[in-house]
Amino acid sequence: MIARIAELEDRVRILEARVRSFSVQSRKDAASTKVAPRAARARPRPRCPGCTLELPKGRRGDSCVWCGFVFSAIGGRAFR
Ligand SMILES: [Zn+2]
Repeated sequence: MIARIAELEDRVRILEARVRSFSVQSRKDAASTKVAPRAARARPRPRCPGCTLELPKGRRGDSCVWCGFVFSAIGGRAFR
């Protein structure tokens, strides 16, 4: 009986060590994923003042492709 208890204690100790190393590992992972860049915020695209939607790249004309807002209506060199 005593031998069994000692065996169980050993197992528990091994499991505890495993759990501890695992939690350390996952903490490291969490720290490294936090560094992930926010690519969406890197380069803010111009937004239409009318509908506030982002204007698609390379398709910028005199008016919004979404709602047809005419940029020159607000004197807009801001959208160049
Ligand atoms: Zn618009």
